[in-house]
Amino acid sequence: MKTDITSLLRANIARLTPYSTARDEYKGALGIFLDANENPYQNGLNRYPSPSQKEKVRARIAELKGIRPERLFMGNGSDEAIDLCYRVFCEPRIDNAISIAPSYGMYSVCAAINDVEFRSVPLRPDFSLPVEELLAAADSHSKLMFLCSPNNPTANAFEPEQLLQLVERFNGMVVVDEAYVDFSDKGSLKTYIDKYPNLIVLQTLSKAYGMAGLRVGLAIADEKVVSIFKQVKYPYNIGTDTLGFAEKNLEKDITGQIEELKAQRDMLERELPKFRCVEKVYPSDANFLLVKVTRARELYDRLIADELIVRDRSTTKGCEGCLRITVGTPAENKKLIEIISDYDRQ
Ligand SMILES: *Cc1c(COP(=O)(O)O)cnc(C)c1O
Repeated sequence: MKTDITSLLRANIARLTPYSTARDEYKGALGIFLDANENPYQNGLNRYPSPSQKEKVRARIAELKGIRPERLFMGNGSDEAIDLCYRVFCEPRIDNAISIAPSYGMYSVCAAINDVEFRSVPLRPDFSLPVEELLAAADSHSKLMFLCSPNNPTANAFEPEQLLQLVERFNGMVVVDEAYVDFSDKGSLKTYIDKYPNLIVLQTLSKAYGMAGLRVGLAIADEKVVSIFKQVKYPYNIGTDTLGFAEKNLEKDITGQIEELKAQRDMLERELPKFRCVEKVYPSDANFLLVKVTRARELYDRLIADELIVRDRSTTKGCEGCLRITVGTPAENKKLIEIISDYDRQ
């Protein structure tokens, strides 16, 4: 593990003088603002987002997550944080990133966009983590390792001890994507930021918090990493409306919904294997199920015919023959069961 993350930064980022916005220079809330070339006539959104509103939302999320606000980066979705990892740590055409396969597609897409070599290591047949193989894939130019837990699309969470082994032994930044952590009993690695400055934990408001349309992703990391992400991101990456909606909706208690979704997931995990067309339902720590079926495309098309849309992962290496099915409301899940039941009788 590299404890000095400064040595992992791209040279141009380490040298960067960040853009300073009008709102960074004068932070007061009252006065006549002739500093940002805004339209002075009020319509609710004529002003640039206020840093104080963003700090309020940051403080609220930090409180919910039990972390210090200095350790929280808020991005335009987790996707912004994933892209920032590449822009901040990887020299195009020289450095590389390592990940598992199958996993979330954005890690490799962002690597390609940033012209960074992407090395993927297959999960074991039981979808467990190939710790030694991941470390063996690394060389002196390996700056990032992306690990998704619970993993999309395999639905399983990895053992925290194994993830931490990689954080300890990999000489770069380990990014643990916990988009589905609220549905898992294995817990978050966010409490290990204290101990490991090379750990970045990604979470999001898009899944359990029910705000996918809002575009707010979170990176929980060492203060130094958060401070650099803030310098590299677009100056006003989160809009006023978004901050206002987040502030309001973060007050809602989501534990009841999460419990219901987990109970529905467990119901589907029990019911689906009863059908002849279902070969296997993989254990899930998330709000979706990876289901191996006899004829994936045929079932997919049959569901579509009844206007029920799932994700066909049957041609993805490592999940051949599988559909990925999100847990819906009880009525939606009942409809799913009905259609499959009808298909199964034919
Ligand atoms: C859905 C998902 C996200 C969320 O991305 P946002 O940009 O925050 O909406 C992140 N990681 C994984 C693995 C996901 O499946």
